[in-house]
Amino acid sequence: MKHRLILQNITHTFEDGGMQRTVLDQLNVQVAEGELVAVMGPSGSGKSTFLSIAGALLEPTGGEVYVDGEAISGKNGQELAAMRLHKLGFIFQSAHLIPYLKVEEQLLFVARLGGMDRMKAAGRSRDMLHKLGLSHRGSAYPEKLSGGERQRAAIARALMNDPAVLLADEPTASLDASRGMDVVRLIAGEVKQSGKSAVMVTHDERVVPLCDRVLYLTNGGLAEK
Ligand code: ADP
Ligand code: MG
Repeated sequence: MKHRLILQNITHTFEDGGMQRTVLDQLNVQVAEGELVAVMGPSGSGKSTFLSIAGALLEPTGGEVYVDGEAISGKNGQELAAMRLHKLGFIFQSAHLIPYLKVEEQLLFVARLGGMDRMKAAGRSRDMLHKLGLSHRGSAYPEKLSGGERQRAAIARALMNDPAVLLADEPTASLDASRGMDVVRLIAGEVKQSGKSAVMVTHDERVVPLCDRVLYLTNGGLAEK
C-alpha cells in the first residue's frame, strides 16, 4: 500500500521563556492513499504544530517528512514552495479566501501559480465548483458568501491542483453541525476518489464516523486510544 504522507521520528521543541519545551517527541505516522485520519487532542497538545510540519510550513527540530515519497529536509525555499503548491492542500479553520477575488478567480489564481494550462484550469475550476455545490457562486466575492459556502470555496481551492496530501485544521469549527458534516463528507469523498492521504485535526466527535482512523496527540506522539 502506498503512503503519500509519512512522518518519521518527528521531534519539535519551542523556546519558552529561556526553556526548551518539547511539543512533539518522536512522532510517527503513515497515512495511506485514500485514507482520512482524524487527529484529536486537547488544546496546546501540538496538533497545529504537527500539521504545519506535515505541510512543510514549519521545519521540525528532528525527524523526516515524506510527501508522495519525497523527503522534505534539504529542500531550499523555492523547492518547498513548489511542493506546497503541487503536492499539498491546506484547509484551515476559517477559509482565508482572498477578499478581492471572486470565488472562481481564487481557483484560477492557484492553478496559475501551479502552472496549469488556462483551458484545463477553467474546466477544472468549473468541475470543482460544481462538485462543492458552488456553481451559482463562482462570480461572488467572499464577503457575499455564507460561512459554509466560504469553507466549501476554500476546499475547492485546496483541491484545485490535485494535491497528494490534504491537511485540514479544524475545518468545521466555524460551521453548524449539518454544514460541518457536509464539509467532512466532501473531504472524505475527494480523498477516496482521487487517492489522497489526508489528516484532519478536529474536536468534533460527530465527524469521526466519516474518518477511517482516529489518532490522539498525547505526550508529543500520535496513538490510537
Ligand atoms: P494545538 O493546535 O494542539 O492547540 P499547538 O501546536 O498550536 O497546539 O501548540 C502546541 C504548544 O506549542 C503550545 O504550548 C503552544 O504554546 C506552543 N507553541 C506553538 N507555536 C509556538 C511558537 N511559534 N513559539 C513558541 N511556542 C509555540
Ligand atoms: Mg491548533
